[in-house]
Amino acid sequence: MAETAGITDGTRPFARPIRQHYPVVILGAGINGSGLFRDLCAQGVDCLLIDKGDFCSGASAAPSRLIHGGIKYLETGEFRLVKESALERNLLLCNAPHYVKPLETVLPIRSTWGGLWASTLRFLRLKSRLNDRGAIITKIGLTLYDLYGRHRQTMPSHRFLRGDTLRREMPDLDPQVTFAGIYHEGRVTHAERLALELVRDGLELNPASTARNYAPVVGTGEGGTLLLREETTGKTHSVGADIIVNASGAWIDKVNATLGIDSRHMGGNKGAHLVVRHPRLLEALQGRMIYFGTSDGRVNLLYPLMGNVLIGSTDIPVDDPDEAACDETETQYLLDVVSEILPGIRLTKDDIVFTYWGVRPLPRADGLDPGAVSRDHHIAEDRLPGTSIPVLALIGGKWTTFRGFSEQAADRVLEQLGRKRRQDTRNMRIGGGRNYPADGRLRHEFLADLAKSGGTDLRRATILFERYGTYAHAIAGETGNGEVLEGLPDYSRPELAFLCHSESVVTLCDLLFRRTDIALGGKLSTRVIETTAQIAAEVLGWDAARTKSEIAETIRQARLHNAGVVRPPT
Ligand SMILES: Cc1cc2nc3c(=O)[nH]c(=O)nc-3n(C[C@H](O)[C@H](O)[C@H](O)COP(=O)(O)OP(=O)(O)OC[C@H]3O[C@@H](n4cnc5c(N)ncnc54)[C@H](O)[C@@H]3O)c2cc1C
Repeated sequence: MAETAGITDGTRPFARPIRQHYPVVILGAGINGSGLFRDLCAQGVDCLLIDKGDFCSGASAAPSRLIHGGIKYLETGEFRLVKESALERNLLLCNAPHYVKPLETVLPIRSTWGGLWASTLRFLRLKSRLNDRGAIITKIGLTLYDLYGRHRQTMPSHRFLRGDTLRREMPDLDPQVTFAGIYHEGRVTHAERLALELVRDGLELNPASTARNYAPVVGTGEGGTLLLREETTGKTHSVGADIIVNASGAWIDKVNATLGIDSRHMGGNKGAHLVVRHPRLLEALQGRMIYFGTSDGRVNLLYPLMGNVLIGSTDIPVDDPDEAACDETETQYLLDVVSEILPGIRLTKDDIVFTYWGVRPLPRADGLDPGAVSRDHHIAEDRLPGTSIPVLALIGGKWTTFRGFSEQAADRVLEQLGRKRRQDTRNMRIGGGRNYPADGRLRHEFLADLAKSGGTDLRRATILFERYGTYAHAIAGETGNGEVLEGLPDYSRPELAFLCHSESVVTLCDLLFRRTDIALGGKLSTRVIETTAQIAAEVLGWDAARTKSEIAETIRQARLHNAGVVRPPT
């Protein structure tokens, strides 16, 4: 296996065996479970982190990919949440500069006074449809937003555009737009990898911790142990824990039921996004995000993503997170919404290169408009039946605020274990964000060194650096220049082999949908699926039948996600 890329076994922290007892077992490896895992590992607590599917394959793989202060939460008076989110946004821009980047954002405005009355009602938590946010209300909002975002600020304050300047800078905007507020948010370019890096960091910080994907909790055993089924081996493990953390997002009540706890904490709602390939739309955005109110009173967004455009999202209540999918009506809604703000642009289904969706793990809030349910987070505590073992459920939250939520949860766990915090995570760099070159000169030096030590040319070194940050050193060191792949010229054969070997890839979808940006970037084709399946098969030891079924399942998933399987990327 390792011969494929000359890979060493020191690169396999994910392969550690599962022990019989851990002080803390975390159920669910989305961003909240992974963030908590890293935090507790940094405090020297031995933890087991498990997920029923792949790492970061639930809601955490389905966000709008904004690392944001949450400007719209000002409307509902959630100032604490805005303050926390803005700080976490600023921290992530520093701690994960390889994946979290500034995003200039345009708030289109159609009137001067619009929205004052509706936002007052919203502020008072009364129902109201806010489909016109005027210049006055936007100015107040952006000024407050700058104020809340001033701690550790790295991005410029807001400005306003109007008249000729606005037309010149954004010529395709609806002519009824008379002003635009311009401000900055953050975006995470590869959320799935950033979450995986937290897990890898945790494993490196604490050699006695373990993380396993495809290992659902399926029940409880003798003496309050947890039964975990390891899908890859078919083995069921009975694992004891002093504290259990249920970080299973929209599945929290389901997982609690598996543990024998009857809870009604969650009220998830589904959101879908489209990735479209449309050069004219891409050009109209001028590299910016347009964050705009729609005629149905919702807020939508459009921004450039890997040479394509991301459109999202919807807000639809769902009962069962396992049944969620993006249907025709939702797809059409997202396609149509674009021409409300850019009237010269009409999209069709043929423009879609990828669709994704997920269920926001929101607290139950019966009767409330889905968009108005708070995105704040809290911890609910139950007991494992027949024992005194605490079961802490991590409810709500956002991608942006994972560190703060993890800190809150870790402090609660540490208190219950009678231990003290050793390390503050506020300034902890993540994965390939460590030793990240701070300016152009250092970047140049880094790339030259990377090319020399990794035996690559400068072009390849740059691709690896942009894809993995400073973790590129580990990858280049193992894979060198490598043979590039037909249909995927930016990826090399040994690079993908390395990911399969060292990043706990179990299925072909793990590799194509999460470890790499191949699916999200609209680069899937039948040929790509077949070629990458051969690489994964060699490294992971799949026989012909397994390889065939992986290809079939990936094609099925690709169709479900409207990925360009029948249309090779141009
Ligand atoms: C459409 C949409 C747009 C969003 N946009 C943004 C945004 O732009 N910015 C932002 O900050 N936030 C955004 N969010 C919110 C953010 O993505 C979520 O709050 C966050 O990802 C939740 O993380 P989590 O770890 O709690 O849940 P999840 O990521 O869902 O993780 C839960 C995990 O538990 C696992 N699990 C379930 N059952 C079991 C079991 N029996 N055993 C073991 N594991 C189990 C699941 O497989 C899953 O991986 C968005 C969310 C959605 C859905």
